[in-house]
Order: sequence, then C-alpha cells, then structure tokens
Amino acid sequence: MATPSRAEIIALANQKGGVGKTTTAVNLGAALAAAGCRVLLLDLDPQANATSHLGYDKRSLNRSIYEALINRVSLDQVIFITNRLRLDLVPAAPELAGAEIEMVGMLAREHLLRRALDSVRDHYDYILLDPPPSLGLLTVNALTAADFVIIPVQTEYLALEGLSQLVSTIELVRDQLNPELRVGGLLLTMYDARTNLAAEVAAEVRRHFPGLVFDNVIPRNIRLSEAPSYGETIYEYDPRSAGAIAYAHVAEELIRRTRIRGAGSGSG
Ligand code: ATP
Ligand code: MG
Repeated sequence: MATPSRAEIIALANQKGGVGKTTTAVNLGAALAAAGCRVLLLDLDPQANATSHLGYDKRSLNRSIYEALINRVSLDQVIFITNRLRLDLVPAAPELAGAEIEMVGMLAREHLLRRALDSVRDHYDYILLDPPPSLGLLTVNALTAADFVIIPVQTEYLALEGLSQLVSTIELVRDQLNPELRVGGLLLTMYDARTNLAAEVAAEVRRHFPGLVFDNVIPRNIRLSEAPSYGETIYEYDPRSAGAIAYAHVAEELIRRTRIRGAGSGSG
C-alpha cells in the first residue's frame, strides 16, 4: 500500500483567458502521475475544458464538482477514476456556470472547496485545481483551498498586464482566508524560441518576479494544442513532443520546490 501523505494542493490561476491553465493542469498532472505521484485533477471551470481534454463529455457525466460545492455531496462520491494510472478527475459540468451566484448566500462560501477537499487530501500527492478565467468565487475558492498557486503566463506582448490585479487578489486571500498560500511559480507558456519577443518578455517577467518563475518554460507546440481534441494527454498523444518533455521538466521542478517546503512541515 502507498504511504499516506497529505496532498499539496495547487491552483492554476490567471484571470486572463487562454494562457494555458487547462493545458498545464492536464499535462502537468499527467507528468506528475508518470513520475509516480498520485494526482487528482479538479475541473472548476463551467467550460469543462479539462474534463473534455481527458476525453469525457461534460453533458453525459452524472456527477461533478457542482454537487460537492453546492449540494454538499462528499467529494469522494464525485471523483472519476479515469483509466489512467494515478490520475483521477473531478469533472466540471455546465451547472457550474450558476454556482457562483448560488454560493453568494452560503455560509463560509469561500471555504466550500477547502472543506470538500479535506476528506480526500490524504489519498493523493498532488491535487491540481483548474479554475475559470475570472477572479470570481470559484477562483477564490481555489485560492482558499490551495497551498501553492502556479500562474501560467503566456509569453507574448502584454504578458504582465493583469498580473498585478491577480497578485493583489492572491495577497487578499492570503491575508483574510488562507495564510498558508504561496505563489509556487509563474510558468511561461507558449514560448516561441524563434522570436526575440519571447526572450524579451521572459526576461521582463523574471525581472518583475525574481525567484518566482519556473526555470523551465513551456514551448509553443502544436501537439499540445491538438491533444485535447483526441481526449488525450500529451503523453498519450505524443510523448516525444517538445511539449511532453517540457511538462515533464516542470513536474520535476515542482516536485523539487514542494519537497523543500514539505521537509520542514514534519510530514515526511
Ligand atoms: P481559459 O482561460 O479559457 O480556461 P486556459 O488558460 O485554460 O484558457 P488553455 O485552454 O490551456 O488556456 O489554452 C488556450 C489555447 O491554447 C488552447 O487551444 C490550447 O490548446 C492552446 N495551447 C495551450 N498551451 C499551448 C502551447 N504550449 N502550445 C500551443 N498551444 C497551446
Ligand atoms: Mg481553462
């Protein structure tokens, strides 16, 4: 039997749309699973892109994170055991689009996800949260539940735009809701090594957030953008692609970064 552990909960956050949150949640999750970690991927976005990236149709599933958040169904009842080794999924569903409004009147509405995760936390090494592109209650729930935030940043012109708003939201959550929260790393995505712009943007992001940016970057890689339409992770679709190799390196880096923290917390 695997040794019990307490999962590191990681939120992928950026209110900007299309920066690579879901691509990272799915493929970093798959890379961590391949490295031997038990991973739960939790889709918090009404668009349900992570759910369909893994090959499931959000309309045909009879359970989702919605039931756990709004109807207080125990989270282990909505976990979907995929046919993948060490990679489980809590799917999203279209009803989630109304969840933020339904949550407004609920007690401790920012803590609903954190509480829901408590019952399954000991069964995984990493729990990855994929929220929608907004700073609404679903994202605030993700930040309140998380130990680490990874901020995917598209390596393009205006990459830094919106980041100060995100950082102040993270600080607010840390001050008022979740003192444990740490920015685990900014991850440069869709990096195009053929352009000077990518190198300039990367340097600028590193200057702005010294020590907080992952050493490894995710290249712009067509295989990463094709894999979702086959319902496959990059390791199923094209394990030799540059995207697959890059996410494996980021997984190693993440394991290193979270081990350092874990070493002091008395869990090992
Ligand atoms: P949203 O804010 O809508 O949830 P997101 O931040 O989750 O978006 P993704 O869905 O992961 O972003 O990516 C946006 C688009 O860019 C998708 O079509 C995805 O396939 C593509 N994409 C993501 N990363 C890469 C990459 N490294 N190379 C090429 N295409 C990529
Ligand atoms: Mg997404």
